[in-house]
Formats: sequence, C-alpha cells, structure tokens
Amino acid sequence: MKILLVEDSEAMMMGLEYLLSQEGYGVLSAGNAAQAVKFLESESCDLALLDIGLPDGDGFELYRKIREKSQIPIIFLTARDEERDVVRGLDLGADDYVVKPFRNRELLSRIKGALRRSGKGSKILSCGDILLDTQSGKVMQGDREIALTKLEYRILYSMLSHPGKLFTRDEILGDIWDISGNFVNDNTLSVTIKRIREKLGDKSGQIIRTVRGMGYRIEGNEG
Ligand code: CA
Repeated sequence: MKILLVEDSEAMMMGLEYLLSQEGYGVLSAGNAAQAVKFLESESCDLALLDIGLPDGDGFELYRKIREKSQIPIIFLTARDEERDVVRGLDLGADDYVVKPFRNRELLSRIKGALRRSGKGSKILSCGDILLDTQSGKVMQGDREIALTKLEYRILYSMLSHPGKLFTRDEILGDIWDISGNFVNDNTLSVTIKRIREKLGDKSGQIIRTVRGMGYRIEGNEG
C-alpha cells in the first residue's frame, strides 16, 4: 500500500514518513505540488495525504489535478484556522481531513477508514446473523439491511473487528472521531450504543454486551 505524502514542513514530513513506514505503508514524499504531480505521472499510489498550504499552490488545486487522473482516497492535512476551507475541500469530494496537530492514532485510523471505503483491504465481519461488509459499508441482519449512522457504523465496525474483546468506554471514545469534527462525549456513546441495539433488535444486550462499570463486548466470528 503506497501513500503519496505532500507536505512542505520538513519536520512534519519526517515524522509522517516514520509513522507510515512503521505501519507498513510505502511513502512517496513530495515537498510541493509540482513534485507531487511528477510522482503521479510515474507512480501509482493508493491514497494521498495533502497539506493545504504549499509553497507552489494550495492543496485544493493539487486535489483537482490528482482527481483528473485518479480516484484514490485523499485526506487533507489542515491547520486549525484553515478548517473552514476544508469544508470546501470536502465539497470537492475529498474523503476526509485531519486538523494539525493530530494524534498519530487518529491519522492512522482515518487512513485505514479511507482505504477501507475505497475497497482496499475490504472484508466481511460477522456476528451471528449480522454481517458488516466493509467494502459496501452495508450492515445486514439476515435479509434485512440495517441503516446505521456513520457513528453507529464506526462503533459496530470497531467491535466486530475484535470479537470477544472488551472495549472500555474510553477506548471506544478514543477510537471514534466524529467526522464532523465534533468530540464524541460519554453520553453520546451511551445513546449511540442504545440506538445500535434497537436497530439490531438487541434491547436486552445479547449482541452488544455491557460489561458493567467497564465497557462493551461483542461476541462474534470474523468471516
Ligand atoms: Ca504547509
């Protein structure tokens, strides 16, 4: 899996190169838009991380150039005060953005999510009669499709990815990053779990089990 990294801050670039290579990704680093375009002519990448403020243009222009050639997932790296601009970027069809400074774990989970949605590394997760297809993003219970919100889907996805594992509330909160940029609080988590259970007809918590005072666990079998 190869990632095109476009970032003009050398320190940031070095940190990201290290992080991504530790995770097993190949990295093509470009310090400006021109170099990134050159890479795209000769190399194929699976995902692009684009800084917005670049010395020879902005990430949005580069975004359009990439889109002329490729449908790879694109994640913007943005400073806090550029956040409003990024919404424009998302309107363009970018997959996601992260605000600097970000936690490594957060960035990695965004990358994984974007690759998953693009159909790379897709898989089917299951528990009893519940199937979650990471490629289509659909959740089925028997013949019935369960419509989940993005947040509900993310929680169910995390739990189904590690059947039998106890997820502490803090852990779930840490894993989940509301794509709107809103912090997900403890109460939202309780309400969201309740909604997922309702949708799955699991009011008594047989599928998503409550581990009292600690968190939640799902029993399942990875398929
Ligand atoms: Ca920059």
